[in-house]
Amino acid sequence: MKFRSTRSKSEVVNLSDAIIKGLASDGGLYVPVNFPKFKVDEFIPLDSNVEIAYKFLLPFFKNDLLSDKLKEICESSFTFPLPLKTLNERLSVLELFHGPTGAFKDVGARFLANTLEKLPGKRTILVATSGDTGSAVASAFYKRQRSQIGILYPSGKISEFQEMQLTCWDTNVISYRVDADFDSCQSLVKQAFSDEGLRRNMNLSSANSINIGRLLPQCVYYVKASVEHYAKYGRYANFIIPTGNMGNALACIWVRKMGFPIKKIILSCNSNLTIPEYFQTRIFHGRPSVKTLANAMDVGNPSNMERFLDLEEQNPQKDLSSISVSDTEIKTAILECYERLGYIICPHTATAYHAFRNSDIEEAIIVSTAMPVKFKEVIEPIVRKSIPIPVKFNEMMNRPRNYVEIQPLYELLKKSILEKFSV
Ligand SMILES: *Cc1c(COP(=O)(O)O)cnc(C)c1O
Repeated sequence: MKFRSTRSKSEVVNLSDAIIKGLASDGGLYVPVNFPKFKVDEFIPLDSNVEIAYKFLLPFFKNDLLSDKLKEICESSFTFPLPLKTLNERLSVLELFHGPTGAFKDVGARFLANTLEKLPGKRTILVATSGDTGSAVASAFYKRQRSQIGILYPSGKISEFQEMQLTCWDTNVISYRVDADFDSCQSLVKQAFSDEGLRRNMNLSSANSINIGRLLPQCVYYVKASVEHYAKYGRYANFIIPTGNMGNALACIWVRKMGFPIKKIILSCNSNLTIPEYFQTRIFHGRPSVKTLANAMDVGNPSNMERFLDLEEQNPQKDLSSISVSDTEIKTAILECYERLGYIICPHTATAYHAFRNSDIEEAIIVSTAMPVKFKEVIEPIVRKSIPIPVKFNEMMNRPRNYVEIQPLYELLKKSILEKFSV
């Protein structure tokens, strides 16, 4: 399969190249030239995530040099459960947080790491994080031979647990604690990418959700959940997805387009209004990000909107809407979900729960993007219950903390990268 840029339709590459480059040379994002169509019935008998992943991803790897490695990549990436749990007769939850760092981003990051490790060359990966991407990427790439990782995170805008998970690395992973917000971190990374010299010398690559190597594996859990729901009830599923940079939601939109049994998709956002505003006005314009309790969604200028607009241009998406959820509503949703269902949710997932309670849909699957313990300072006072840290995090928590403090100036970042990394 071939992939093209969202900007110039003439640059066409295969999947490995799209993954290595991250961003197309014209600054656009890679999208499939044509989407394959799937038959749901062929997926119903499959019962492991690895089998589902392999069957779904194979067409995207067609004619690529990695096509005969795909099985192995799926086996080493889909190593943790992605369960669909029933909360009551109207509501289910798709738990995506059983990976090593407790957020859905582990799925894409591990797949990307396992893919890049099989591709020739040595590279430098820069990633801006609003909280969870950085740790998922660090964990996935830690001690790999072919990749060195620089992570930029906004100082003071992430939870204590998230910061622990971003600073417990060494060897090939360096964390930059940037005295700025997430948008500035993202803009520093973009500057590095548009610096031709640096890009070439350091062999820069991206692990943000602009990389198609993260988006495609994220499609897998929507395939799995929609097929499972369809096999069980004979109905199409409605998904409500906590949304920030729009990588997770776009995967669902793509999966629906490829023929899987999905009806409505609702993007639940926090007080960052860019996406809800787009759905009201059909005009997209980025804004500065605002800080909220659902910090991994504090994105003012969502990168994947460019992929979404590209799709809209060809065929406008129906049954798609968005809602903005305030911090007060997030808190109420956490409490209400706990009291009604005995189920504790993180502040991101709470936006989806709120959206469900305020919608008229009969039945929905809310997507749970992070393990509640990552946001214990927020949740514990609301539910008045302590949330124990699972033992699987003990080893990580006992490691020494390493980070480089940096002002949000591109020249400073560049100097440090040149000093600390080599290819
Ligand atoms: C990244 C993240 C989101 C938002 O996902 P996008 O793909 O950026 O829209 C939501 N919740 C959590 C916990 C996250 O880490």
